[in-house]
This record gives sequence, structure tokens and C-alpha cells, in this order.
Amino acid sequence: AKFEDAGLHPVMLQNVKLCNYEVPTPIQKYCLPAIILGYDVIGIAQTGSGKTAAYLIPILNQLMGKAKKLAAPRPNPALVENFQPRTRAEPLVVVVCPTRELAIQIFNEARKFCYRTMLRPCVAYGGGPIGEQIRQLSKGCDILIASPGRLIDFIERPDVLTLRRLRYMVIDEADEMLDSSWSDEFGKILSGGEQEEGNVKYMLFSATFPKGARDLAKEHLSEEHVRFR
Ligand code: AMP
Repeated sequence: AKFEDAGLHPVMLQNVKLCNYEVPTPIQKYCLPAIILGYDVIGIAQTGSGKTAAYLIPILNQLMGKAKKLAAPRPNPALVENFQPRTRAEPLVVVVCPTRELAIQIFNEARKFCYRTMLRPCVAYGGGPIGEQIRQLSKGCDILIASPGRLIDFIERPDVLTLRRLRYMVIDEADEMLDSSWSDEFGKILSGGEQEEGNVKYMLFSATFPKGARDLAKEHLSEEHVRFR
């Protein structure tokens, strides 16, 4: 299989080339068509398999042209007393992952694939400066990569973030998060916000597939999901 045969938009194909990815890895061969065809996906895969690009490329490809238009230039807030114009983030994609390092790594990959798509990625993780993260979100956010705790923080602040426009929810390294105290919070994340029932595609990636991950998949993924191992 070749990236050229995957039915990608020319801009996305060029971004793949700019990354020097010449041939798809096995998980990419499998996930690109599955995600483009609209299936929920379970990927049992290790770091190094190319799983990040396996979901980012097809998801961003499907969302090209759906970037939220940035607000018109704003008046200088200093001119209006107590007036702080702010755009709340309405991401089309949320990627949840266990650590700050992984979040930054996924964000950097997302930036490459967002090039010339008008889609804007943001990253948020615990321990990072929350004020600056909110400022970045308020500049527009089509793809949010976040650790679970910080994501819940933001979900509970509807003036900062809404999942109203959410189309894809990706749980990356699910097993790592299920092992931790976050497992209880997943319900909140997965049904988080006001997204319309049935409109959101779920992707679950995990190195192992323990009971917790199977339960999560059973509860949230469509029965017609495809599975890569
Ligand atoms: P991941 O498994 O997503 O952590 O990716 C592992 C590494 O492989 C990353 O550094 C990617 O940039 C790289 N990579 C992903 N897909 C490809 C590909 N098709 N060809 C070459 N390198 C790739």
C-alpha cells in the first residue's frame, strides 16, 4: 500500500511527504481507510508503530475545510472597561493521553499534518501554565491534545471549552490511563459536554488490551468498529 492510494487530500499527502514518510506502517495501512470510511477503531499497538500518524492523518484529512473561522479582529479590550473578549475552544478532535511528554509529542506531529489545512492544534496538560493554555485555546482550537486531568478541568469550564462540535475522540495509550486513578474520570470525559449523540467517532489505542480497556470499548465504541492488532 502507498499513501498515494489512500484517497488523501493533496495538501495532506504533501504534509505526509514533508514528514519523509514514504510507506505507511502496518497500522497506518489499516487505520487510514478504516477512519476515512467512518469506522470507530481499536488499535492494539506499541509506541514506534506509527500509531499517532495512523489516526492523525485520516482524521485531519476528513476535517480539512472544517476549521473554525477565526473571529474578526477584536477591539482593544483596554478600550472597554471590564470587557474581555474571548473565543471559547470548540475542538473537532480531542486526543486524550496519559503524560505531558506524550501530549507534546502528539501535538508536534499534529502541527506537521495541520500545515496549510487551516486547522489549529492546541495542547494542554497538568503541571503546565493553565493561564497560557487557556489563552492558546481562546485563539481557536480545532484539535486538542490533552492529559485527562487538565481536560476535565476545561470541560468543567464551559467558557473555556465546549465539546459541542466534537467529531472524533481519541484515547491514546488507554492502558496507561486505566491503570491510574483516571479510570473513574473517563466517563466524564467520554460523555463530556454537549456533543450530539452518535456524531462522535471513537478511537482507542493501547499497547495491551486489559479488561478496563475492553469495557471502555464496549461502552463507547460502535459495535461495527474495526480492530487492529
Ligand atoms: P509513534 O508510534 O506514533 O510514536 O511513531 C513512532 C515514530 O515513527 C515517530 O517518530 C514517527 O514520526 C515515525 N513514523 C510514523 N509513521 C511513519 C512512516 N510511515 N514512515 C516513517 N516514519 C514514520
